[in-house]
Amino acid sequence: MRVIDNPGEMRAWADAARCSSKRVALVPTMGYLHAGHLSLVRAAFEHADACVVSIFVNPLQFGAGEDLDRYPRDLDNDSRLLREAGVEVLYLPTAAAMYPEGFQTEVTVTRVTRELCGRSRPGHFRGVTTVVTKLFNAVRPDVAVFGEKDFQQLATIRRMVDDLDFGIEIVGAPIAREEDGLALSSRNAYLSADERRAARCLSRALDAAQNSCGAGERRVPEILRAVRGVLEREQLARVDYAEIVDPATIRPLDRISGEARLALAVHVGRTRLIDNAPLRVSGEE
Ligand code: AMP
Repeated sequence: MRVIDNPGEMRAWADAARCSSKRVALVPTMGYLHAGHLSLVRAAFEHADACVVSIFVNPLQFGAGEDLDRYPRDLDNDSRLLREAGVEVLYLPTAAAMYPEGFQTEVTVTRVTRELCGRSRPGHFRGVTTVVTKLFNAVRPDVAVFGEKDFQQLATIRRMVDDLDFGIEIVGAPIAREEDGLALSSRNAYLSADERRAARCLSRALDAAQNSCGAGERRVPEILRAVRGVLEREQLARVDYAEIVDPATIRPLDRISGEARLALAVHVGRTRLIDNAPLRVSGEE
């Protein structure tokens, strides 16, 4: 596995790969890899001949007071996992290579980023779309894989790629979970034993909503009542948001008729966790 730390060298590798008619996939990450990230790599190989994984803890997408400084890192383990997974290139740009002196250009997707995490984390998605644009320009992949775990991010990237004619196929990969339902996340490493137990309330709340919907409930306020009931019973949890939205536009819904997604952000102790699930009324697929 080759390790590349700057955009120029990354572009040169990508040009050579294209000359040899290789279809290239990119999987952007912030490292501290887990089975969810590796499922993205597997999905990448279903769509491409070569896979580039980027690891970059992007300062631009962290707000003041967020966890940029303590974000978990383990590059040795990450490299080993990616080598074992058959990844060709680990793209590991430095912050100085990504944002040199004088950097001042940002990419903004407006409406899809307004609700949910966009409201709780102002500027977050602008940081994401800016860094993903830079990663796309360095790797120029045919396909890029993102997890449904961050489904507002996925919707934002899809919108950006359509709006700005990137010509990159965007693949969404399902959420990988622990056995008890907790969505895998690098931030789970922050949780104490008690918080880890409490964190199960997110997937339980998703289950409660899916059961309610499966039983025919279409009224969003009713479904959200069940969701909040589960979350508020957990003493270590504090709800940031629990909303049901259209998965493409991220607009809040009043009733479930077609596609709908329940999205949660919950603070468990000092750690903010997100999760989501599709909702379907019984009999509708
Ligand atoms: P991160 O390193 O947390 O920025 O995540 C990098 C990519 O992995 C993003 O596209 C995430 O949506 C995806 N991802 C993170 N956790 C999971 C998970 N549990 N299941 C599937 N994809 C995930």
